[in-house]
Amino acid sequence: MLRQAALATGLGGCGTVGVTLGYSIRMLRGQMNARYLAHECRHVYQYEAVGSIAAFLAVYLEQIAKVGYWDAPFQQDARSHE
Ligand SMILES: [Zn+2]
Repeated sequence: MLRQAALATGLGGCGTVGVTLGYSIRMLRGQMNARYLAHECRHVYQYEAVGSIAAFLAVYLEQIAKVGYWDAPFQQDARSHE
């Protein structure tokens, strides 16, 4: 289901530098910097705030489906903490 949602919304597409699942932050080799790390750490905070990976993904994917990846509130919040 996550794969289908990612393909449908462009999540994880060509411009993706990192991805966070719970406490696991994955970054493309050579792309790690303080700005991107702060962004991904904010996603960790968001996971903790909603309580679980499943709860986060349910909210996050709904946001992306409604307004797109860039304008999703979790993305805007993470960018504001870069
Ligand atoms: Zn993000």
